[in-house]
Amino acid sequence: MKAWMITQAKAPLEKFELETPQPTGSEVVVETAYCGVCHSDLHFWKGEYNMGGGKVMKLADRGVELPRAPGHEIAGRVVAKGPDAVGVEIGDMRVVYPWLGCGDCYYCDNGLDNWCRTPKGIGVVRNGGFGSHVVVPHPRYLADPGKVDPALAATYACSGLTIYSSLKKVMPLDPDAPILLIGAGGLGLMAVEMLKAMGHHNIVSVDIDPAKLAVAKEKGATTVIDSSSGNLAEMVTMAVGKVPAALDMVNNDHTARAALDCLDKGGKLVLVGVAGGELAISLATMIFMGWTIYGNLTGTPQDLHDVLELANAGKLAPTPLQRCPADQANQAMIDLKEGRVTGRAVLEWG
Ligand SMILES: [Zn+2]
Ligand SMILES: [Zn+2]
Repeated sequence: MKAWMITQAKAPLEKFELETPQPTGSEVVVETAYCGVCHSDLHFWKGEYNMGGGKVMKLADRGVELPRAPGHEIAGRVVAKGPDAVGVEIGDMRVVYPWLGCGDCYYCDNGLDNWCRTPKGIGVVRNGGFGSHVVVPHPRYLADPGKVDPALAATYACSGLTIYSSLKKVMPLDPDAPILLIGAGGLGLMAVEMLKAMGHHNIVSVDIDPAKLAVAKEKGATTVIDSSSGNLAEMVTMAVGKVPAALDMVNNDHTARAALDCLDKGGKLVLVGVAGGELAISLATMIFMGWTIYGNLTGTPQDLHDVLELANAGKLAPTPLQRCPADQANQAMIDLKEGRVTGRAVLEWG
């Protein structure tokens, strides 16, 4: 098998020739057909996370050893399976649920693998879809894309289920009440599409890139705000008033603060992105306003099935995809870093 791997932080990915894995027990080997390129791949490549207060978390603190093939939005065909892998056949096209845990704790046993204390994420702790083959420990981490284009279905494994899981935290909402979405990249557009699928009518999308906002508008955002040259919270409240819910797809010192300042009484803020930093909270204000702040850690295997069901029901408009050959993995990462991707970049293998 081949794999584009991170060998050291910020250095160009290198192509490796690795031994093609042979499954044992309940393992399944998927030959990668498509792999979405996500902002978390960029953070991973950078090798550190801004934890706020001047603190930085390094990859080694996440249990990551290099070289590692990133990529956690994977769809491909099953090419081999161990003797205990039931419910899936060779040749099946499947989307891979990447947010694996230990497979044997309270969380993993109850379908909350994303909350496992010893995460073993594909494309993080295990090699991911920047490789031509991926080992999945059990068929329960595979989902059938049905009639959805597998290149698109692949992106539901991170951006799709992450947004679905985030929206579940703020729903139900009055369908006419404004919901604030900060960031109109892959996650932000997914949020617009999913809100429309859920029958929501008042969607406020904020970004600093007018091109991304134009796409958000086209996808169904009812209000778009370019916050590049103004005070984000003031611009939002001037346009739509206070909001009952906000999703911060950027999540840095500035955006999280602004999102909080937009919340109405009883408002809910979901932190989704991992730009990082810190947020000072007035504890008395939390009480007087009755606010809730959530951190969203991806989503569950069931969330992936639910998103695919929404998509197969024809309710979810497709995210625009920018397809490129897997051998352009480095370029795809740079394009994403420099903000040149509208929607989702997807690597194609084969
Ligand atoms: Zn991701
Ligand atoms: Zn576990």
